[in-house]
Amino acid sequence: MKKAGKLNSLKCPCCGELRPESECFVFISQIAYDVPKKYYCTLKGDIIGNLYWLDAQKNKVDWACDVCLQQKRAFQGKPKRQLFCDIAPHFAYFDKQIVCRDCGITFQFSKEEQAHYYEKLVFWVQAERVRCDSCQALQRIRKRLSHLLANPDYNDLEQVKEIISIRLKLKQYQQAKQFLAIGKKNHVSGSIQYLAFESLRKQITEAELTDNTSK
Ligand SMILES: [Zn+2]
Ligand SMILES: [Zn+2]
Repeated sequence: MKKAGKLNSLKCPCCGELRPESECFVFISQIAYDVPKKYYCTLKGDIIGNLYWLDAQKNKVDWACDVCLQQKRAFQGKPKRQLFCDIAPHFAYFDKQIVCRDCGITFQFSKEEQAHYYEKLVFWVQAERVRCDSCQALQRIRKRLSHLLANPDYNDLEQVKEIISIRLKLKQYQQAKQFLAIGKKNHVSGSIQYLAFESLRKQITEAELTDNTSK
């Protein structure tokens, strides 16, 4: 641990440049005024000590130098609106490139989206985005599916239809057809439900066909 004293420079996680204290003015004032006392105690108890600690976290603390803020590569976060305890809040937001955990593509987590996550939806500051939009959507419906399957009511045709739609989106055609059979058993031929299941059946057949021809 460096001795608290004159601070030389801090590496801005947004532009990657080493910036003297005079070019980190916004960040330093944010630490002084936006971080609650209890958080100070977790750290070193003084601003310079906190700066060293934050700097030592490398890229784990989101802040930006004055140049990045002025040039709008980044904008200031509002720690008071964020949910944090022993992990530093987001002092600034800048676009991040993230590799999707599921499909491996690189996607952008924009600064506006981040502010929405941490200050409107108020997710914990350490909650990171790990999936791209489409994998995130898939993950959401997978969760919904396991919720439905944990306590199924096969007399509830709306539920059966939802299960079929999800199976279809997940490309689980065989399972979708099984549920189609369950749904058909319970409906009255010619009813609105019948037409709904008919349309689902068509969708499954078409999806299966496109999937096979694209392979
Ligand atoms: Zn910068
Ligand atoms: Zn993905």
